[in-house]
Amino acid sequence: MNWFLVNTNVKTTYRQSILQKRNTLGLSELSNLSKTILRNADLGLNLTAITTLGSYFSVNNEVDLATLTNIRLKKNLLTTFPKVEPNHSMSLIAPKDFKKLRKNKYDIFEPSDGDKVKPIDHEVIIIPTVGVDKNGYRLGYGGGYYDRFLESVMERNNRPLLIGLIYDFQFIDDSINESHDIKLDIVFSEQQSKKFS
Ligand code: ADP
Ligand code: MG
Repeated sequence: MNWFLVNTNVKTTYRQSILQKRNTLGLSELSNLSKTILRNADLGLNLTAITTLGSYFSVNNEVDLATLTNIRLKKNLLTTFPKVEPNHSMSLIAPKDFKKLRKNKYDIFEPSDGDKVKPIDHEVIIIPTVGVDKNGYRLGYGGGYYDRFLESVMERNNRPLLIGLIYDFQFIDDSINESHDIKLDIVFSEQQSKKFS
């Protein structure tokens, strides 16, 4: 039995069922849950005030981070967003001009100008997350972008805190990680704050 393939299939199955469920969220439900989740995260980590935050532009019914982004921009706090780079790599970029966003090949907005900020220079990075297994390992969309992007900082002192903002149904009561998967430090949902480190 090839256990690598077994876990790959298990991950695919969880990915599909969670995304299917997330797609059924209505607009007002999404907005109410997002508010609660952002409030929980802000109470826990002061995301509206920390110096350097990795964020993203929410798509496909992800927890809506727009309020957080807007508060931080008004305060001129450094906030970065993912950009897809060649060879399935990515960077986090602090956009110069939010009017100059453009859509990438996954149909997600990304900065078209601005400075790269190294992973290690972030205090906190919010990682787009499809599921979180019972040990805190993150299930993503299947591209492995953040796994590769963060690999080099995982063992460093003073590495950024890695967090996920998810709905309760995205917690997976199972152990499904592969060796390359990143473990999240804290995950906030509408009902829980779970610390894994
Ligand atoms: P996701 O993290 O988006 O859920 P996976 O963990 O399934 O996706 O990873 C997708 C692909 O990326 C896998 O084929 C995996 O081998 C590759 N990958 C992930 N992390 C690394 C890494 N650190 N080095 C090389 N390949 C990696
Ligand atoms: Mg992974």
